[in-house]
This record gives sequence, structure tokens and C-alpha cells, in this order.
Amino acid sequence: MTLRQAQDGGSSATRSARFLIVGPQGSGKGTQGVLVAGAYDVPQVATGDIFRANVSGGTELGKRVQAIIEAGDLVSDDLTSELVRDRLSRPDAAGGFVLDGYPRNRTQVDHLDAFLEGRGESLDAVIELSVPREESIARLRQRAVEQGRTDDTEEVIANRLAIYERETAPILDVYRSRGIVVRVDGVGTLDEVTHRIFEALSSRGLVPRHPGAAA
Ligand code: ADP
Repeated sequence: MTLRQAQDGGSSATRSARFLIVGPQGSGKGTQGVLVAGAYDVPQVATGDIFRANVSGGTELGKRVQAIIEAGDLVSDDLTSELVRDRLSRPDAAGGFVLDGYPRNRTQVDHLDAFLEGRGESLDAVIELSVPREESIARLRQRAVEQGRTDDTEEVIANRLAIYERETAPILDVYRSRGIVVRVDGVGTLDEVTHRIFEALSSRGLVPRHPGAAA
């Protein structure tokens, strides 16, 4: 039991909240991940956001990864895992986190397992946002118009989705075999989907600290 749980008499509302959110590009996982993080009072850690911030900030890391991101390919596992370990080692992630965009393949699953095991931790849930291919492509086209992300061109979108289907979707089987996957229908309004996520997590005893945020 953590100190915070002990102080609260071990209430389930204060247990750890170590989550992954997994879904195809355009599934809305970024938006939902932020909401989950807020409700459970943990940081959202989105590898794509961290890489993009480094690209726009012109850092050494940004220069190394820019061409890879613009092609929709994956940054190396070692570099990405190191970045995530650094981020998860910060004090604000001690009680939990919402990882978005990592792990993205089997090697990264192994890296994350090794890191968490070394700290005596494990994931509490993997939120699978399920969205049909056509729907996610339509949403990405819309996002391309609205946000102008350089990796939201037709060709790069197709590459990213292919990598998702080939490398990322299979990691869900690994987590399914551990019994921690919470599958949520990602088709609906933003609020509907948020609601489904909180209901599914709460029904597993993973109760938000700020239920108000779970509207
Ligand atoms: P999306 O899920 O829409 O492709 P992200 O914002 O998650 O977008 O990621 C953008 C890009 O950042 C990816 O296409 C990839 O180049 C890089 N990236 C993000 N996360 C990872 C990761 N876990 N491993 C390798 N590359 C990553």
C-alpha cells in the first residue's frame, strides 16, 4: 500500500492508476487519455507529443527523429524506451500515468515490463479504444485539415495505420492474456466515449480521484 492509500485507509479511490491507452490513429486516444489522466490525477505521457515538442523546439532529439516522424515510421525502440523511462521516473508519475503511443510493439512491451518490474510495479489497465478502420481514416483526414500535422498526409497516414495493424494491435493480445485489457467502443461523441471509459475502469475497482472530471 502506498503512503497515500494508507492515509486514506486504503480506499480504492486512491490505488495506483497505471494505464495505457491503445487505439488506431484517429481513435481519439489522445483526447481521452488527457481526460483519464485528469480524473485519476496522474500525468498523461504521450510519446508522439514529446517527439513533436522536441522537433518544434529544435533539440538534438528533435533533429534525430524529425525525418522518421514525417515518414510515419517508428523511432528506434531503445531511444523511445529511454525517453519513457526518464519521464516515468519523475516524481509526478510515482502513483500512476496514462501512457499514450507507447508501447507500440512487442519489444517496447518488454522494455516497459522490465522497467516496471524493476520498480515493483505493474499496469492496472490497458484501455483499448476500438474504432473501425474507415472511421479512423475519416477522422485523420479531418484532423489534417484542422491541425495541419505534417504526418497527416494520405501516404503517411496509410503507413502509420499499417504499422499499427501489424505491430501495435498484436500487443493487445499480450495484455489480454494478463487479463488487464478494458475494451471500449470508440465510436460516439467524445462525452459518450469518455463515459464508457470511466464506467469500464470503475467497474474494475479503478475509481477516479476526481469523478467530477469524469463527466
Ligand atoms: P499517431 O498515433 O497518430 O501516429 P503519435 O503522436 O502517437 O501519432 O506519434 C507520432 C509519431 O511519433 C509516430 O508516427 C512515430 O514516428 C513517433 N512515435 C510515437 N510513439 C512512438 C513509439 N512508441 N515508438 C516509436 N515511435 C514513436
